[in-house]
Amino acid sequence: MSTNMNRIERFFNEARSARLNSEMPIKVGAVVVRGSRVIKTGYNAPGKPKFLGSWSRHAEVRATLNINNHGASIYIYREHGLYRSPMLARPCNHCQEWLKFVGIKEAIYTIQDYPYFEVMEIK
Ligand SMILES: [Zn+2]
Repeated sequence: MSTNMNRIERFFNEARSARLNSEMPIKVGAVVVRGSRVIKTGYNAPGKPKFLGSWSRHAEVRATLNINNHGASIYIYREHGLYRSPMLARPCNHCQEWLKFVGIKEAIYTIQDYPYFEVMEIK
């Protein structure tokens, strides 16, 4: 179990770094992981792209664009701007549909309370 926790901590740290690129007041970062490798990072962004819905600016969608996500996991990190404490980063319904569509198998995201993460099987 400790190995698993190390893994979660490691990829949350990478998602936490990715989120710093965001211009949004609430910054969310995401990393797509296959095996032990991050294959793409993303963060939430303003604006409304033409062909995808407004949810396409969400970090987990941006992290999964234009790559092969089949069988991969996604780690999504959000924290409070002042207190630096984890906040709920559960994918919204549209993002869940998108993640399923592109072949992501599970989402690991921060929550506000101990143990500060949840795992969602995408099916
Ligand atoms: Zn979403």
